[in-house]
Amino acid sequence: MFDKCPGAAHIRTPTIITKKCPQCGREVEIFSNEMQTSCGNCGFTVYNDLESCVQWCKYAEECVGEELYRKLKKKRIAFVCVENSCRSQIAEALAKKMSSRPNLEFVSMGTHPSKEVAPEVLEVLRDESIMWRGKPKGIQDKEPVDIVVSMGCEVACPAILGAKRIEWNIEDPWGKGIEAYRKALSAIKKQITELVEEVD
Ligand SMILES: [Zn+2]
Repeated sequence: MFDKCPGAAHIRTPTIITKKCPQCGREVEIFSNEMQTSCGNCGFTVYNDLESCVQWCKYAEECVGEELYRKLKKKRIAFVCVENSCRSQIAEALAKKMSSRPNLEFVSMGTHPSKEVAPEVLEVLRDESIMWRGKPKGIQDKEPVDIVVSMGCEVACPAILGAKRIEWNIEDPWGKGIEAYRKALSAIKKQITELVEEVD
């Protein structure tokens, strides 16, 4: 089956592609099945596919243009609250549903994660036709985060290296009845719409 795949040709019989080194301008030869190579003149890493260029090469925006760069550049956005059982779960669930930008990745975490997501959260998300299966998670800073959106964790909010910090003033609905959860959800929805528009 693999052999019949038209895309397999360049893997079976790789061809040589000539690219221009974005740093010194010299021509660089690279095999079609290689992800990257080094420029023989200046040693700079030259990527073969567009996604890798955009993700790793410092000249990418110049090479591909601002619009395409913005469209492809992956960004990881972390929603953080205290227990990751309520506001940050709502934010992660809504952002994943609402965002039409495939290059934006959304996660949520808590400084003191609880055992489970608040049942009211699952209920108000169901009203949004979201069958949410998220679980509370602690602070994960192994993978780089570009933006930290914190909600009410104040001093306990993690200072994740290199991440831009945004604070959303969303009232904690915990223990205040289903209407408070609905209010929090619609406030978070408004914030997410603005965030997705603003993120470079
Ligand atoms: Zn070079």
